[in-house]
Amino acid sequence: MDSYTNKNYNIKATSGTLTINPATFDKDSIKITAYSGPYDGSEHPVINENSVYPDDSKVEYSTETGTPNWNTTCPKVKNVSDSKKTKVWIRISKDNYEPWLSGEIQAIISPTQIENLPLNPQISVPWTCKKVADITTKLPTNWNWQDSSKDLQIGSNSVIAVYTGSDAGKGNYVKESVKFEITRSKCTHEHTAGRYYSSPSCTSSGYSGDTYCTDCDKTISYGHIIPAYEHDYDNGVITTEPTVETDGIITYTCKRC
Ligand SMILES: [Zn+2]
Ligand SMILES: [Zn+2]
Repeated sequence: MDSYTNKNYNIKATSGTLTINPATFDKDSIKITAYSGPYDGSEHPVINENSVYPDDSKVEYSTETGTPNWNTTCPKVKNVSDSKKTKVWIRISKDNYEPWLSGEIQAIISPTQIENLPLNPQISVPWTCKKVADITTKLPTNWNWQDSSKDLQIGSNSVIAVYTGSDAGKGNYVKESVKFEITRSKCTHEHTAGRYYSSPSCTSSGYSGDTYCTDCDKTISYGHIIPAYEHDYDNGVITTEPTVETDGIITYTCKRC
């Protein structure tokens, strides 16, 4: 200013203060998008990595308001509940610029379908399968029967299988239980035995016995009555000799009884 001259003016310099105010960032130089996608078991930064920031600016993140702890690492979320409770604020700063503060930003992780969700929940089991615990058909990994002690009726049964993976119950999956139709077949009566046999005697009838299934206890066939034998007499012995006046007595004895 000292050397500034102009023929039309008499220029006199006086000391003063030059104030340069911080610049504000151009709105178009900031484009922030939050992560959005289905649950996949992986961690995802809350802020998309392809977000745009002003050149040479410093980007910091915080999960607190008030007097936040600013960090250069973006917080990550892994599951549906994390994504719902994690709120992120961003600060963009650069020398000579007014720092820019974002509002609250949240990632969206949406519930997804379990990869090994049983799609054809039907199992046929033999008669010997009396309880859910007896079912030998393996469920997919991390799936278990809800109630192993449940009895299986002959015919159709509804049995619930539940997902029990470490990420279960956190809202990560659309469906975490499946209703199976368990069809238990009738007994084929493979193992049978007799019962209720009784032998006849000379005076009382007997019974040939029933045939029953030793698996299910059902009577397969009924027996018949065996008639009494009738006594089987020997040739008799003279037990009283006859006399001139009286008859003798021959006593016959049953050989069997
Ligand atoms: Zn049987
Ligand atoms: Zn007899």
